[in-house]
Amino acid sequence: MKLIPLPAFSDNYIWLLQHQGRALVVDPGETEPVTRWLAENQHQLDCILVTHHHGDHTGGVASLQKQTGAKVYGPASEKLPFDYQALKQGDLFNWADLTFQTLDVPGHTAGHIAYWTSLALQDPILFCGDTLFSGGCGRIFEGTPAQMLKAMDTLAALPGNTRVCCAHEYTLSNLKFARAVEPENLALQNYMHHCEELRRQNLPTLPAQLANELKINPFLRSRQSTVIQAVKAFAPQTSNQEVDVFANLRSWKNDFR
Ligand code: ZN
Ligand code: FE
Repeated sequence: MKLIPLPAFSDNYIWLLQHQGRALVVDPGETEPVTRWLAENQHQLDCILVTHHHGDHTGGVASLQKQTGAKVYGPASEKLPFDYQALKQGDLFNWADLTFQTLDVPGHTAGHIAYWTSLALQDPILFCGDTLFSGGCGRIFEGTPAQMLKAMDTLAALPGNTRVCCAHEYTLSNLKFARAVEPENLALQNYMHHCEELRRQNLPTLPAQLANELKINPFLRSRQSTVIQAVKAFAPQTSNQEVDVFANLRSWKNDFR
């Protein structure tokens, strides 16, 4: 089983799993990176996972489905313009020798889902779309801060060795913000240097490791006193309620340059 990020558009990744001539892809916003990889590597695409309805995650699904006959899975509470098996929290399905679990993680969109699977001899894998990024989280377009905070808690509860497969290469700009929130966080500074080196070599910073995200990602750390204090310094009207802290942390990031 091999996990590969296929770059798409300017900063998307289409995640691909390959196993014995078969391939699964996640959120193919365009077809070309996938069809090129399949041709070069002589694999058959037979499964497509979709996390949410945005075009940069769905634009290539219909044509890949038509070309390959791949089975498509997607969120039960969103409307997608192709045939797919609708999934919600707790639903399980199999691909190759893996069993995937569905997690409801609304916030970025109203019906956003994520996919988690354990592997026999490798670290588990999470496909989380635009919910969790390395050092950050997705913008809250359709859901509420309370929902997004709950989504962060759902993902934080997964095993620490989980490989977090985010759909965008946003890491460096997220870490700039994270450093503004927690300037004294040493783990964050070390991770930032590591990621800067990867980007200098034009390598992906992903997958991220969940245990490391818990040390460096302010959106997974919104109950830490350092983060609460920073949010209150930025937005003095912030109350002691955790959802209020999280909401103001997210608004701070929205305008951060
Ligand atoms: Zn999105
Ligand atoms: Fe996206």
